Amino acid sequence: EATVERIAAGEVAERPASVVKELVENSLDADASRVEVAVERGGKDGIRVADDGIGMTEDEVRRAVEEHTTSKISGIDDLESGVATLGFRGEALHAIGAVSRLTITTHPRADRADVDAARGTELRIEGGEVTSVEPAGCPEGTAIEVEDLFFNVPARRKYLKQDGTEFAHVNTVVTSYALANPDVAVSLTHDGRETFATTGQGDRRAAVMSVYGREVAQSMVDVEADGESLPDGPLAGVSGLVSHPETTRSTREYCSTYVNGRYVTATAVRDAVIEAYGHQLAPDRYPFAVLFLDVPAGDVDVNVHPRKLEVRFADEEGVREQIRTAVESALLEEGL
Ligand code: ADP
Ligand code: MG
Repeated sequence: EATVERIAAGEVAERPASVVKELVENSLDADASRVEVAVERGGKDGIRVADDGIGMTEDEVRRAVEEHTTSKISGIDDLESGVATLGFRGEALHAIGAVSRLTITTHPRADRADVDAARGTELRIEGGEVTSVEPAGCPEGTAIEVEDLFFNVPARRKYLKQDGTEFAHVNTVVTSYALANPDVAVSLTHDGRETFATTGQGDRRAAVMSVYGREVAQSMVDVEADGESLPDGPLAGVSGLVSHPETTRSTREYCSTYVNGRYVTATAVRDAVIEAYGHQLAPDRYPFAVLFLDVPAGDVDVNVHPRKLEVRFADEEGVREQIRTAVESALLEEGL
């Protein structure tokens, strides 16, 4: 049974970046306005995600680490309305605890009228066993620390890549949430050095600036197209930022795509963005884009494994046409 659990855990906790993704998602779900991510050695030695969200009581944190427990789905209606597409609901903390040494320190936020918010709790798990639950003095919100990921699954531990590679994946994940949530202050630190920090006070362009720098952000062109300006297709709206062809220095294509706020990769979108630039780019230069796609609920006919980022739309050609139009008209407005 322990083996089965560890294999199941591998679905959720594939590598440091997938653990970070789950923890950051939980912080955002917990209404955090600040999420601090710190990793050691690409996340292989340590991952810490701290937030100022609603926190948990002792009962809540005990329940949170059990199997298939979630505070987020109230019934089959939720499942059917598409919440389940985020996948493996209620499994993440349990799964991560099964393959690491996990410490949760949490304190319910004072504005939670529903619970006794007087004290905090520290809960520890080692390889799936809860080893201690104690009162703790800690700030409101939740800090989750994952040490020695896969210490008890040597085969998986061995498969992890070099620190730099694992960190690159972590960076992609944290960046994607930072850009999608400009109203949340998101920071990332690797081996004690801050990689970026957004303020949580700005718009998307401000978040892009915090992550990619002022020069990139200032030269970017706004994309804003809705049902009226888009050709017919699956998308109800496209918004975001794309790089100015003349200042595009990227030597590989960078297209961050979000479907209804969720970070995905979509070949159709990437191809359409490149097409929209036509011959405007210097040789060996690729566009840089951050695009938010609005797909009406029920129309998210995206074919996607819960843990895989790549999405396919049933009407790929329609999506392509819509993205191309949206980006072309953004560039046209700049006189490009
Ligand atoms: P899910 O997110 O699908 O509910 P998880 O295993 O990721 O499942 O988390 C289990 C539960 O733990 C959540 O439903 C939530 O109640 C609680 N939880 C996890 N992380 C946090 C957090 N950062 N702040 C507050 N509650 C949390
Ligand atoms: Mg979760």
